[in-house]
Amino acid sequence: MPVAADLLTLTPAGLYCPRGGFHIDPVRPVDRALITHGHSDHARSGHGAVLATPETLAIMAVRYGEAFAGTTEAAGLGRPIRIGDIRVTFHPAGHVLGSAQIALEAGGCRIVVSGDYKRQLDPTCSPFETVACDVFVTEATFGLPVFRHPDARGEAEKLIGSLAVFPDRPHLVGAYALGKAQRMIALLREAGYDDTIFLHGALERLCQFYESRGIELGPLDPVRGLKPKDLAGRIVLCPPGSMADLWSRRLGDPVTAFASGWMRVRARARQRGVELPLIVSDHADWDDLTATIEETGAGEVWVTHGAEEALVHWCRLRGLDARPLNLLGYGDEGEAEPESSPAAADSPDAEAGPTGDTGSADDTGAAA
Ligand SMILES: [Zn+2]
Ligand SMILES: [Zn+2]
Repeated sequence: MPVAADLLTLTPAGLYCPRGGFHIDPVRPVDRALITHGHSDHARSGHGAVLATPETLAIMAVRYGEAFAGTTEAAGLGRPIRIGDIRVTFHPAGHVLGSAQIALEAGGCRIVVSGDYKRQLDPTCSPFETVACDVFVTEATFGLPVFRHPDARGEAEKLIGSLAVFPDRPHLVGAYALGKAQRMIALLREAGYDDTIFLHGALERLCQFYESRGIELGPLDPVRGLKPKDLAGRIVLCPPGSMADLWSRRLGDPVTAFASGWMRVRARARQRGVELPLIVSDHADWDDLTATIEETGAGEVWVTHGAEEALVHWCRLRGLDARPLNLLGYGDEGEAEPESSPAAADSPDAEAGPTGDTGSADDTGAAA
C-alpha cells in the first residue's frame, strides 16, 4: 500500500504529519507535538501544545517545570483521539514509565512510530504491545546482531554477588535518572535485596515520581552527608556522568558498576573504568528488533537512531521496503551517548549529555 506522504514526512524538526499539523518527538520547538516518552532527546520543552500520556506529561513537568509547554493534553493508552481526519492512538512501548508508540491512521493506512521500546519484562512500566501496521518506524539503538541482551535479572544478581565478595566497599552503580535507575532498583528488589539503596540527588525526584505512581522501590535514602564507612557494602545509584567526577571520590574506593546495553562492548566498559559491567538495556536488542518488525506485518520500515544500515539491510533481504531516516538530534539519553556532558551531574537532566550523533557507531563497529 502506498503511504500517503501527507500522513508522515520528515522535516528538520523531525517526523511531521502535514495532514494533522503535528510533529512527533520534535527536536526543536513546534506548534503541536506528540511525545512518545520523557527522555530528553524525545521530550523537549517549549512546544505550543503537547499531547502525551499522563505519565510523560508529569515527567516533563518534573524535569522542566510546570510551564514546559503552552498547553497539554493527556492521551490514554489504547484510546483513539481524532486530530483532523487522522486517528491517533498511543500504545505501550515498554521502555520507561509512560512510554508509548504512536499509531496514525487515515485512508486505510496505519503508521506506527515506535519511539524507543523494549520487549524484556520491566516491572516499572507497561509491557510493549505489538500493533499491526503498514509502516513501522522503529528505533535501532542496538541494531547490530552483536547486541543480544542477557536476562536483566541475572545482571542484578551479579551486583548482589559482588556485595558478598567486597563487603567493605560501596558499590556505585551508574544508571540513567529516568527509567534505568528505577528498573535497577526494582530488579534488585525482585532478587530479594531489601536493604536501603542510596541515591545521588539527581535521581531522587524521578524515584519519588515512580513511587507516586504505585511502583514500589523499597527503602531509599539520599547519599548526601554519608561517609565512605557508612556505605561499605551498600549500593549507591548515581547518573553515569557522576561516576568519574569529584562527587564519586567522596565514596572512597567503590566498586564501580554501570547498567547499560553498551556494557556488552568491553572496550566501552574499560574506557569508563567500569569494574562491574551490567548489561541492562531499556532498548530492544537485535533479536527483538527483528522479531518485532515481523510481528507488525509492516511492508515498509523506517529506521531511526542507531545502527540504521544493518537493520535496513536485514529488512531488504526479506523483501521489505526499508529506509534509514538519519534523523539528527536523537541518541537516547538512556544509552546512546558514551559520555555525559561536562555540565554538573547534580541536576536532573545532567545525564542528557550531548544528543544525537555521539560516537556510538565506532564502538558498535569495533564490537561487531
Ligand atoms: Zn528513550
Ligand atoms: Zn531515543
